[in-house]
Amino acid sequence: MTRNADAVIIGGGIIGLAAAFNLAKFKFGKIVVVEKEMFLGSGATSKCAGGIRAQFFSKSNIEMSMKSEEILANFEAITGYPAIFNQCGYMFLLSNEKELADFSKAVELQQSLGLPVELIDPDQINKYAPEVRIDDIIKATLCLQDGLADPNDLIQGYASASRALGVEILVETEVTGINTSNNTVTGIKTNKGEIDCPLIINAAGPFAKVIAQMAGTSIPVEPVRRQIVTTAALDFVGPKFPMVVDVKAGLYFHREAPGLLLGWADNSVEPAFDESVDPDYTDNIIMKALDRIPALETAGVSNSWAGLYEVTPDHHAIIGPSQEITGMFYINGFSGHGLMHAPAAGLVAAEAICGKETTVDISSLAEDRFEKGVISEETNVI
Ligand SMILES: Cc1cc2nc3c(=O)[nH]c(=O)nc-3n(C[C@H](O)[C@H](O)[C@H](O)COP(=O)(O)OP(=O)(O)OC[C@H]3O[C@@H](n4cnc5c(N)ncnc54)[C@H](O)[C@@H]3O)c2cc1C
Repeated sequence: MTRNADAVIIGGGIIGLAAAFNLAKFKFGKIVVVEKEMFLGSGATSKCAGGIRAQFFSKSNIEMSMKSEEILANFEAITGYPAIFNQCGYMFLLSNEKELADFSKAVELQQSLGLPVELIDPDQINKYAPEVRIDDIIKATLCLQDGLADPNDLIQGYASASRALGVEILVETEVTGINTSNNTVTGIKTNKGEIDCPLIINAAGPFAKVIAQMAGTSIPVEPVRRQIVTTAALDFVGPKFPMVVDVKAGLYFHREAPGLLLGWADNSVEPAFDESVDPDYTDNIIMKALDRIPALETAGVSNSWAGLYEVTPDHHAIIGPSQEITGMFYINGFSGHGLMHAPAAGLVAAEAICGKETTVDISSLAEDRFEKGVISEETNVI
């Protein structure tokens, strides 16, 4: 096993691999990715719904997503590997004046940043999303630059492109400890031996805090279970059926194979490393979906699963160096948006590590914002 590296990336999910690719492109030196599982991308990335949207409320989230969408639309040209990015759009259904006021303000900000997003009347909704009940909807937002990406394409693309640039990727290699001296990283311990390195990139997703704790520090990232249900084939769902978010219900759905993928944010779930499928949670998703799409009454359930969000107190990611441990860099806490932010996050993290100006301003994503109390919450989360 490798005995030394210039940087070790902990986690072979979408964030770790996007960072590895971008660091390698900047010729950072010897880069090693360590992943505890047998397969890359089998953590939160494999559980995700594939949604890619720039319709956020905060400037930094909008900018991160817009950069990611640009990269995703040119993924093959950038990495040499193809990846599906279906720009079928994202639609937020608004059913009261408070939602309309909040989203109208956000649309203004998004448009000012160059996002092609608009408010549409209820009678236009079924043109894009047939069978969706609209009698209680007063407006919807629509952005046809948003859409869906295939997490596996992105994992394989970034992994292959990283390997081609000389990155070493070690699977079934679990980090069990971090070596430090005078609060400075000197290496990692794994189940397969130690690697000396001056830089660790924490890309461990829901396990980010566990990794930070190994170095004697902490980071406010909690694992929170989220569930998904998929339906059998539905004849009203075409290839351009958008991602639809029912804001009041906290429900979202989009085309998945010939049916629909349904998800819902159960905000009563407490943080825990629990990925079991809770039948009550599943029932809740189905009931909410039936209420919004009555035509689902005869649809069969094809699958359901649970995965972990990696949640920060303000629902913004943490990107930047640890304030306490020299040589520990965080790319964590995407709070349910890590797939859509990965292309931009990998790029800006690599830029920051290499001392370059970052393509997107990430100063508001520094870890010390919590200590300084300068946080602003992203409230458009599902
Ligand atoms: C149900 C669900 C739906 C979602 N839907 C969306 C969506 O539509 N759009 C979107 O953008 N995001 C979505 N997300 C969020 C998205 O999946 C995550 O934000 C993203 O995958 C995080 O990527 P990651 O690489 O940080 O984490 P992960 O994919 O979890 O990768 C971290 C890796 O670190 C490894 N690891 C952990 N500890 C160690 C260790 N000690 N040693 C070695 N390796 C270790 C893990 O095995 C794992 O492979 C969803 C998440 C869930 C659960």
